[in-house]
Amino acid sequence: MATHEIGDKIYYTGDNRTGDYDGMNRARWLTVESVSPDAVVLRDADDPDYVLHVVPSAIGDTYRGHHDPRYVTWDAYNAYHRERYRAHLRDALPESEKASRVRCSECGRVFDLTNENDANEWSFGHDCE
Ligand SMILES: [Zn+2]
Repeated sequence: MATHEIGDKIYYTGDNRTGDYDGMNRARWLTVESVSPDAVVLRDADDPDYVLHVVPSAIGDTYRGHHDPRYVTWDAYNAYHRERYRAHLRDALPESEKASRVRCSECGRVFDLTNENDANEWSFGHDCE
């Protein structure tokens, strides 16, 4: 389980209620205000009266794009969206190129994985500038 520090951003994945519900439990970013073994206190910086006390185990390390877990870390949220974006870019490639080509989501460079240099740079990192 991730440890949380004051100032960390935690994504509240919201409530799945719909209709005329007042929206208090809409998905939103919260900031860690204090941490103890029993509770992480989270506050909405844009709505300071909105404060939640949650057990640390309620904050997940993996975001799946829905309401379970109810809270996820910044890294989990971003990993999910990074992967979705990569998948989107992969899908946008012509069918003939999908198998061997991947595109960096940071710089847009396309790597041909059948080329050793490209494959190494894709796996071990490259300079996006
Ligand atoms: Zn790049």
